[in-house]
Amino acid sequence: MIVDQLESHAAEDGRVRRSARLRWIGGEFRLWAEVPDGFQPPEEDATALLLVALPLALYRGEDLQLDGAVSAQTLRQTERIQTILAAWDPAVRRCRVRVAHELALRQAADGNGCLLSRGVDSMYSAIASHTPPLTHLVFCDTLTPLQSQRVRIEERRIVEKLASLIGLPVLRISTNLRDPGAQLIDYQDMHGAGIAFMAHSLSGGLGRVVVPSGLTYAVAGPAGSHPLLDPLFGSEWLVLDHHGLELGRTGKLEAILEHCPELLAHLKVCYTEASVGNCGSCRKCLWTMIALQAAGALEHASLFPAEIDLDGLALLRVAGLPLTEFWMQAAESLGDAPEDRRVREAVRRMLHRSVRPSLPDRVRGALAWIAGTSEHAAPYWSTSPSGHFRHQTNAAIAALRAGKPYPYGVESATPQPSPAWSVGPLEPDWGPPLSPSSAHVGLLRMLDARGRRHRYAAGVIAPIDGLVRIGELGALLRDPGDGRVPVWISAEGRVSTDSYDPSPAPLAARTVFRWTLAPLSWRRLASRTSLLRELLRRATDARDAVCRAGLLTASDAPSAAPVLVGYLRRSPQEGAVALYSAIHPVNADQLLSTDASESSDLGYNAPVLLGFLEADAPASGTMGVSRPRVPWASRLGAGRARA
Ligand SMILES: [Zn+2]
Repeated sequence: MIVDQLESHAAEDGRVRRSARLRWIGGEFRLWAEVPDGFQPPEEDATALLLVALPLALYRGEDLQLDGAVSAQTLRQTERIQTILAAWDPAVRRCRVRVAHELALRQAADGNGCLLSRGVDSMYSAIASHTPPLTHLVFCDTLTPLQSQRVRIEERRIVEKLASLIGLPVLRISTNLRDPGAQLIDYQDMHGAGIAFMAHSLSGGLGRVVVPSGLTYAVAGPAGSHPLLDPLFGSEWLVLDHHGLELGRTGKLEAILEHCPELLAHLKVCYTEASVGNCGSCRKCLWTMIALQAAGALEHASLFPAEIDLDGLALLRVAGLPLTEFWMQAAESLGDAPEDRRVREAVRRMLHRSVRPSLPDRVRGALAWIAGTSEHAAPYWSTSPSGHFRHQTNAAIAALRAGKPYPYGVESATPQPSPAWSVGPLEPDWGPPLSPSSAHVGLLRMLDARGRRHRYAAGVIAPIDGLVRIGELGALLRDPGDGRVPVWISAEGRVSTDSYDPSPAPLAARTVFRWTLAPLSWRRLASRTSLLRELLRRATDARDAVCRAGLLTASDAPSAAPVLVGYLRRSPQEGAVALYSAIHPVNADQLLSTDASESSDLGYNAPVLLGFLEADAPASGTMGVSRPRVPWASRLGAGRARA
């Protein structure tokens, strides 16, 4: 991942906007943050960008290069940040970090800020006593992606009111960090880095920023913002203070009720409601309402319904270790009044049902597992998009229910490449080329394991959920010319040319039969349950293929027109690479390869030569493809056994 083209300019209302280009293999995004003039750090300080880009690079499996200057202390701390993130989610790949310069030591600014949203944790931290005392409240008005402009303006007005009740001025920061184009990983796993990005964007006026914690000392498992992690996001001139672990939700609400009960009328925790209020029926609303009732504060929180909806509560399911513990904490803090006892019993029943799925839930889970949309057959396993939450929960389940490590020894974080960090000019051989060619368009091969097919893309692509990038085959020419073959890519990610159409070949009953049963003979390649699942999925695929073959008519044509993406050379040339296409005999997947033997190796039909690619990788910097597991291929993609 390359972070470069840092810019700074004046924005409306006496504010300053800083931005930089983030570029990763296959995509890019211009990230910006806007703060009141006077609070921005010196123009050369790019420490904010270092911290926000680090988790993205780790999850993208790329090294990080930053064309700017950062705090020497923070740069050294990135190694420990990497160690912690890798321990919490072994799916990450630790990376090398290179920055152009280190900043000279400077004096910390006098301001002491505390992040303020309208949630419980930040209200509690904002009214708690701090040494040195707080001078500002920091509000980010763009962190909730659902909001319309109207709600956002109303939201700002309410926060101003909250701040005047607390008696401190508000610093408003805006950023496009939550825009869809920037969501490379689950925000849960990087929200501490996101907060650090905001705090460093204000380090010209703040020397200390209080980060309100959502955890407690009792429940402090892996999380994007964490007492181990947040201090490491600081620098010589900025302290990040992860605050408020001493109390759970009920305790914090009791403290707010005691010291500043007027704040409770503005409490908002709901993500599902695109308004300034709370829906009162989602998981977060109900959990907060239970804590409000336990604290005797429900009647003060006028943006919530007056009573907890016990019927709605009965329908909820809570999955994952931290969430279950948070619900238990809230329910067990309820008192002994009859209405408290009713709510506590309802929560206990709901939690009990959550860990003991009903028979229909189990059947649904097993079917999703067979269909490949879920990684686990039993519904109590976590499928959270957050690697932190998923790993924590499933490691506990695997250890205590199955007596096995999770995920059964397949995944483990890579060792730290050395040196972990360095300072100097950016090196062109790291990651994507520093300035990609304008005449060439990279042709990328990706695997959609759930959709059971390959997909292809040209040039820069936004991250697509669930797709694994296999690699860059080479480059298409951007412009037409003599002896060039136009190339189209369909909405389904299939590639065609003026003389080649990737439609499925006629089915042969014998091939279908052999392909479906083939997993039975691969006992050494995978566990028995994986092979059984692949057998079932092949049976489903084969049934679909037979149905499709019977109905092959004009209505089967793809809906959206394919897009012209570039040109191949028609005849070989010095430095050009042959591109072959092959179709799978049963599921009709298209395999593009620069290796003529790959198709037969993976059990596809005979390859067809489409033309010649340029030997260049403008999108990723690295030509070539990895060999991932392709479940529908011969020997699951391990290739044919060689003699
Ligand atoms: Zn809600």
